Amino acid sequence: MDYSELYGIAKEARKNAYAPFSGFRVGAALLTEEGRVYTGVNVENSSYGATICAERTAFVKAISEGERRFSAIAVSAGEEEALPCGICRQFMFEFAPDLTVITAGTGPDGEEMLRIRPLGELLPEGFRLAPEESTGDEGRKEGDKE
Ligand code: ZN
Repeated sequence: MDYSELYGIAKEARKNAYAPFSGFRVGAALLTEEGRVYTGVNVENSSYGATICAERTAFVKAISEGERRFSAIAVSAGEEEALPCGICRQFMFEFAPDLTVITAGTGPDGEEMLRIRPLGELLPEGFRLAPEESTGDEGRKEGDKE
């Protein structure tokens, strides 16, 4: 899947954003190393602190399905380019420090221009606890027999 296609999926997912308070609608499309795609949207809440971003929604959906290996995420906020917030950068770093982040801005003639950055550029030195031992948390798609 190419990045432009992935961005298109994020843009489409954006329609499902729940953003009645800010009106700032965001869609994300997360691509696993195996080529599966999980979408996410921002979901706001009357208790503002309970709001979750599109990027984390996509990650949580994928992780809860057993995914652990990710290659890219596309984020669409419509006309304006929107970069992942600090919390999302750290959240994504936990699972995919080498993730590719795709956003889009508008070019001089109004055309959509994709911007492709490594997560390491957005979060050069993410926080990481050293895992004490394997917790069997490698994801179940890696060969579990259930
Ligand atoms: Zn965020």
